Amino acid sequence: MPVTLICPRLTCRALLCVPEKVRGKRVRCTKCGTTLIVPEVPLPERPQATPAEEDTSRQPS
Ligand SMILES: [Zn+2]
Repeated sequence: MPVTLICPRLTCRALLCVPEKVRGKRVRCTKCGTTLIVPEVPLPERPQATPAEEDTSRQPS
């Protein structure tokens, strides 16, 4: 599963998809060339079977 990152450069903010094997390593933004470090700790995985159903109790009044 590839890791999705957002370029830290405010003027770029490109969405980057990098392979999991580069965790903890530096990658370069393909758009602006900024070097960023891929976080080593994976995001907590949520089971796909139970999607977070947000209760849309906000009613326009
Ligand atoms: Zn960038």
